Amino acid sequence: MGTAIVVGAGIGGVTAAVALQRCGWRVTVLERAPELGEVGAGISLWPSAVAVLAELGVQGVEKSSQPSKPAGMRRPDGRWVVAAAELGLELPVMIHRARLHELIRSEFGPAIAVRTGYEVTKLAQDPDGVTVNDDLRADLLVAADGIRSVVRGTLYPQYQGPRYSGFSAYRGIADLELDDGGGETWGRGQLFGFVQLIDGRYYWYATVNRPPGQRSEPTEFATWHDPIPRLIAGSDSVLQNDIYDLTLPLVPFAQGRIALLGDAAYAMTPNLGRGACSAIEDAGALARHLTATSDLTQALTAYDAERRPITTKLVRRSRTLGRLAQTESPVLRAVRDGAFGLGGKLVALRGRKGQVEQSRRDHTPAGP
Ligand SMILES: Cc1cc2nc3c(=O)[nH]c(=O)nc-3n(C[C@H](O)[C@H](O)[C@H](O)COP(=O)(O)OP(=O)(O)OC[C@H]3O[C@@H](n4cnc5c(N)ncnc54)[C@H](O)[C@@H]3O)c2cc1C
Repeated sequence: MGTAIVVGAGIGGVTAAVALQRCGWRVTVLERAPELGEVGAGISLWPSAVAVLAELGVQGVEKSSQPSKPAGMRRPDGRWVVAAAELGLELPVMIHRARLHELIRSEFGPAIAVRTGYEVTKLAQDPDGVTVNDDLRADLLVAADGIRSVVRGTLYPQYQGPRYSGFSAYRGIADLELDDGGGETWGRGQLFGFVQLIDGRYYWYATVNRPPGQRSEPTEFATWHDPIPRLIAGSDSVLQNDIYDLTLPLVPFAQGRIALLGDAAYAMTPNLGRGACSAIEDAGALARHLTATSDLTQALTAYDAERRPITTKLVRRSRTLGRLAQTESPVLRAVRDGAFGLGGKLVALRGRKGQVEQSRRDHTPAGP
């Protein structure tokens, strides 16, 4: 049985631990925080990530999550740019982050040991293994230590790393009764979105253009359409994070006996709502490649070859969407909103045409 160290117990790290355990590794998870857990916010889980969790035996995701409803896009005064419509698009489910983390952790068996309050500051590898802090040793190390990864910094000291996106994000959960299906509202350099969780509460998120390091309340939304000010006022606590992503091109996700995973490898802006989903998919892919061959170098090379191109595209697409959402130029905003409005109508029309054709087929008498 091989031994593995997973650095970091965010969603990526705990999923990696479960995936490695499933294919026969003995795993030590090292987390610098004093306790395991996740922040009080919602998270979108796309079907591809839900499928990996199911493959890994993680149970209860369906019962704890709320399928997203088709959502539209509004202007700050409440006028619709694209109204919510049944477009037949693939949509994510929404789940509370802490609940997701708990569900994954509940799959930890005797092959997984956890050390909290343990910060990795030093690592070295040789042909036989990886040593952490001159203290622990394993055959394989998975770095899931987030966007400011110490492991990535040690392996690739020349790499520029995090790059400020130009905006800060706010998140909260409000306990309100609303007669509103949610969706996103795009303003000038500002965006607000909200969606219902399975327990009836509303998870909301907002972004505002500003220099990094400025802590403040999201007062910009005080005059936006109902229920936005009520959602903010109705939240017990509001999280604020300056948004960074990683510089392109990304560094290789594998070096010797070390693999990078999740934000440590390719942190993206949250605009696509896919960062944690990709980390889950990385864990699934890593386990698959480690099962396919006993040659560690070959497995990690195949993992990098599969995941780096996909996630490079996601980082790029998310960045582009972020720029579009946060634009302050009146011309670009008019073009953007016009394009979204027209796009929404065309897709809705295509959806309706599909429905009409389906209904014609349904009513056509069966042939001889
Ligand atoms: C506002 C916002 C909204 C988002 N919404 C979504 C969404 O809806 N859907 C989605 O899929 N993604 C979303 N994301 C992205 C998602 O949150 C991240 O991609 C994901 O949480 C990354 O997980 P991770 O495990 O790779 O890293 P992290 O969650 O950053 O975990 C890293 C862990 O490593 C630990 N650590 C760090 N350094 C060390 C060290 N030296 N030694 C020991 N431990 C260490 C940290 O304490 C931490 O626990 C969003 C992000 C933001 C900011």
